Amino acid sequence: MLAGQMNMNANVLKQAQSYCEEHKYRLTQPRLQVLKIIGTSTKPLGAYDILEELGKVIANPKPPTVYRAIEFWQQHGFIHRIESLNAYVACEAGHQHKGSQFMICDDCGAVIETHLCELPKPLKDSTAKNTFTPSRWNLEIHGVCAACDSY
Ligand SMILES: [Zn+2]
Ligand SMILES: [Zn+2]
Repeated sequence: MLAGQMNMNANVLKQAQSYCEEHKYRLTQPRLQVLKIIGTSTKPLGAYDILEELGKVIANPKPPTVYRAIEFWQQHGFIHRIESLNAYVACEAGHQHKGSQFMICDDCGAVIETHLCELPKPLKDSTAKNTFTPSRWNLEIHGVCAACDSY
C-alpha cells in the first residue's frame, strides 16, 4: 500500500540520477521505479510489496528483477534494509553514511532513521579492544512513536 508522496525525499531520485551518471551505472526502468516505490512509501516495504507495486508500472516484472534493483540501491546506500521487518526504506540522508539505525513504531509501522553515523563510544572501544574492524552494523529500536503515544 502506498500513501502518495508524503514521505518522499524530493531529492532522492535526482540524487540517484546524477549518482548513476557520475558512476556510469545504468538507471534502468526497474531500478528507477523500484527506488520511486520505496521512496514514496510511508512504510517499509517487503520485496513482495515492491514487486506488486512494480507490476502496476511495468508489465509482468519478474522477482529477480526486483531483487536485483533492491540490491543495487542497497549496495549504493539509497535504501536500507530493516532486518527485523524484512523490509526496505529509502535513506533519509542521501547515501553518504555508514551503518543504519532505526526507530520502528510497533503501532503504526513508522520508521525513523536516527543518523547515528558512527558507532557509539562503548561499542567503538569494544571493537578496538578486540581489534575487530566493523564494516557494517544494524541497530533497530522498536517502540512507540510520538504520534501513536499521544492517543
Ligand atoms: Zn540512511
Ligand atoms: Zn506510530
